[in-house]
Amino acid sequence: MRVLIALGGNAMTSADGKARPADQIAAVATAMEPVADLVAVGLDVVITHGNGPQVGNLLVKNELAASVVPPVTIDWCGAQTQGTIGFIVLNALERALAARGVRRRVAAVVTRTLVDASDPGFGRPTKPIGRYLPPPEAKVLIEHGQVWEDRGPRGWRRVVASPEPVEVLDAAAVAALLAAGFVVVANGGGGIPVVRQPDGSVVGVEAVVDKDLGAALLGRALGVEMLVIATDVDGAVLGFGTPGERPVGTVDAATLRGYAAQGHFAGGSMGPKVEAACQFVEHGGRRAVITTLGRIAEAVRDDVGTTVLPVDITREVAGHG
Ligand code: ADP
Ligand code: MG
Repeated sequence: MRVLIALGGNAMTSADGKARPADQIAAVATAMEPVADLVAVGLDVVITHGNGPQVGNLLVKNELAASVVPPVTIDWCGAQTQGTIGFIVLNALERALAARGVRRRVAAVVTRTLVDASDPGFGRPTKPIGRYLPPPEAKVLIEHGQVWEDRGPRGWRRVVASPEPVEVLDAAAVAALLAAGFVVVANGGGGIPVVRQPDGSVVGVEAVVDKDLGAALLGRALGVEMLVIATDVDGAVLGFGTPGERPVGTVDAATLRGYAAQGHFAGGSMGPKVEAACQFVEHGGRRAVITTLGRIAEAVRDDVGTTVLPVDITREVAGHG
């Protein structure tokens, strides 16, 4: 069986959100333990990951050093973090596999995700990235063409487009490595966003693809049976943050979409995870699970956290019950 594991921010940085190199290495080492358990039982595993804090740090470096070294664009930051995070995941996973006596090779793929240049997201950027700045400093960057928004008492923050991922362009390379027996790290940060030129070539764009939506698309392209979205909560809840909070357990995609339409899942956090899980099972995936890192091995065998099934399977189960 093929499994795609999407690692959230808490798998990549320390609990307080710090992203010093040592914090990232330690967090990734912890995350690779349950991943190695899955590889050890013979599953074909693909790993994808977030990169928010890492890109945030690169943007700060860009700003502070702009008069000395030329700043780079957000797509470049995405590519750079696929490199650094891929690197530490390879080291940690190899070590965890060796400790289990498992001889599987691992590889990381620089992965581009095609987005549509006419995506409405480009017209109204919504995704906040990087650090807060006082208005005068933000103003300078606005004059350089960036979009910054007043986010209240903490200051101003840059917002960028978050267009829908259309195609994971390097999925074929991931598939080839999987077929050759590799554990593959791919599509980090949702993939490096690129748009198609009239001559057929692609170029990077200043945008951020949602990591979970990118994962669902990669999972479909690879024909993986299962998508596990590992985050810092054990699934989605209804009435989030209210006294009547109620976990969503095993659910079919249509029912879950109904809850989403009622506004239960926050945009930019649980919302895209729910959308990704639905899209995945609606396009051939057998199950999608939103749970904590510690339960990913369990998620392969049992329904844990929020387990999303295609509607026909849920009916089948109900029928047998
Ligand atoms: P990751 O870094 O793993 O992608 P996010 O922070 O983006 O994680 O999303 C997980 C967060 O979503 C949870 O920590 C929680 O605060 C928030 N959240 C918003 N709405 C809900 C909900 N309805 N149920 C559960 N968590 C929710
Ligand atoms: Mg988070």
